[in-house]
Amino acid sequence: MLRIRPLSPERVAQMAAGEVIDSLEAALRELIENALDAQASRIQVDLWPSRWQVRVADNGQGIPGSELEQVARRYTTSKLDGRSLGFRGEALHSLARLGSLTIQTRHAADAHGWLATYDQRGELTSKQPAATALGTVVTVADLFANWPLRRCPLPQTRSLLTLIQNAALAHPEVSWQVCQEGQLLLSLWPGPSLLDLLLQMLPQVEPSDLRYRRIQEGDSDWEVVLGLPDRLHRPRPDWIRVAVNGRFVQMPAWQRLIQSVFQHTLPRHRHPVVVVHLRLPPEQVDWNRHPAKSELYLQEPQKREEQLRQYLQDLLRAGSVQASRRSLHLLRASEAKSLYRVSPSLQSPAFSAAGSSLPPLKALAQLHQTYILAEHPQGLWLVEQHLAHERVRYEEIQQHWQLVKLETPVMLQGLSSQAVEQLEQLGLEPEPFGPAAYLVRRLPLALCSEDPAEVQGSLLELSHCADLEAAQVTLACRGALRNGTPLTLEQMQQLLDAWQRTASPHTCPHGRPVYLALAETDLARYFRRRWGICDRPLSDPKLGSLRLGDRFAAQVRRLAGLPIQDPTDEVNSAPL
Ligand code: ADP
Ligand code: MG
Repeated sequence: MLRIRPLSPERVAQMAAGEVIDSLEAALRELIENALDAQASRIQVDLWPSRWQVRVADNGQGIPGSELEQVARRYTTSKLDGRSLGFRGEALHSLARLGSLTIQTRHAADAHGWLATYDQRGELTSKQPAATALGTVVTVADLFANWPLRRCPLPQTRSLLTLIQNAALAHPEVSWQVCQEGQLLLSLWPGPSLLDLLLQMLPQVEPSDLRYRRIQEGDSDWEVVLGLPDRLHRPRPDWIRVAVNGRFVQMPAWQRLIQSVFQHTLPRHRHPVVVVHLRLPPEQVDWNRHPAKSELYLQEPQKREEQLRQYLQDLLRAGSVQASRRSLHLLRASEAKSLYRVSPSLQSPAFSAAGSSLPPLKALAQLHQTYILAEHPQGLWLVEQHLAHERVRYEEIQQHWQLVKLETPVMLQGLSSQAVEQLEQLGLEPEPFGPAAYLVRRLPLALCSEDPAEVQGSLLELSHCADLEAAQVTLACRGALRNGTPLTLEQMQQLLDAWQRTASPHTCPHGRPVYLALAETDLARYFRRRWGICDRPLSDPKLGSLRLGDRFAAQVRRLAGLPIQDPTDEVNSAPL
């Protein structure tokens, strides 16, 4: 008796279709990738989730009329060079199987366009000449009509939008228009970089809240954007996004790496905003890890992780007040003759904050025995002394964690067994001394300079810390300069210098912002030294959501009773 038999071809086809297209999102993803592969510079997406319908129109190369017969057959593709998003020739076939597929297209070599329809096997059922612009419109209607189980869960607008956002971030040269049930949902215009697109998607975010760098090193080409931890963070890790060669992917190792770089720069339970796009020669990427190509294998993964870590750390380090490229451009255009010069470091589009060349900060005065007022080449900074010192101490303690032997032990009383365990974990080795007391003969180096009267309290606090990291944060805070402490100019300068050398100067280890920067450009704007520049973006509808200067500039304008540009153009208010 024959037990093992080959599956019927229908069954095999069902399985394959199921793998690629399991949702309306997946259908949309495939259609968008085809439009991008066709070199479109404009893509219009129309969604009708209630009808399980999606239409993607592009101005790309189009499909020659003579090829319309093959396109929806299984495993037929025109993409063989490894540089395109598609290569399996499955998507249109699956979409024909699972819904009703219509293609309207015109290729440059054809005198007119065509309208083609397909049956469930992917075979052409009709083909008529049609007046069509160059490009392709693919419509899939009634998706899963015969597969009711796949119709739940219902498509979520949010996940459809995330998909389109990601495609746009990875292809900033394309302009997008997205409608849902006939209503305009999102429109994005093209820009030179991922950063420009990100700013359009997050109208609440100021350009100065972000740091961006494009790095070409060897055969790799990186775009990295991060939100400064003192200004931007999220309750969920939904804005940690990673793309490789034009497609956003799941890379848990990178997610963890990014989270670890931001550790102790953000408030508790908050997550950073980081978007990374790595472009590599196609032979270094193997996409055959997941049917939806949402996972991959990279050549030399460790090397890439090290690069990423390095770039993120560089961007996190102190720099100067960042001004938006657009506002700088406008400044230059309208102020060419003015005495005021934009400094060269700010003019470079890929603003970068190299650790070695920090801008000098000069201590000027102390305010309320709490803030250090400092002059910066591009403006004025207020630095909170306790938080800055806490950051300095935290990084010192972390880098030079050391236990020192004491001549006279410290006695601790009333420790719970859990507290004893915590101290043991930290390597402090508390020894029982009588029925209710313990002796500690070793101290973290950071505690040695503390007033002996306070050491006991510090040790008790450490005994409540969950792990070494938490203990280090606690020690940094306990030993840091208190607010209300008067400082000499020299002490302030020393603190500023040490703080600027830290790896993550923007926030204290609990995630609170350390400084407030007031840019010269904002001061100049406030005192109306170059008034002309503000009118232009307001009157130009194309620059409607342009954000001039930073949050402070907006405040200044509000205080001065001037119109504030409204960046929250409804069209662009995609969920952050
Ligand atoms: P793949 O993208 O893997 O090649 P698909 O089934 O998605 O497989 O598409 C099959 C073929 O149809 C593509 O190789 C391409 O030649 C053509 N095609 C599909 N969509 C478009 C489009 N929007 N513009 C131009 N050609 C397209
Ligand atoms: Mg495809």
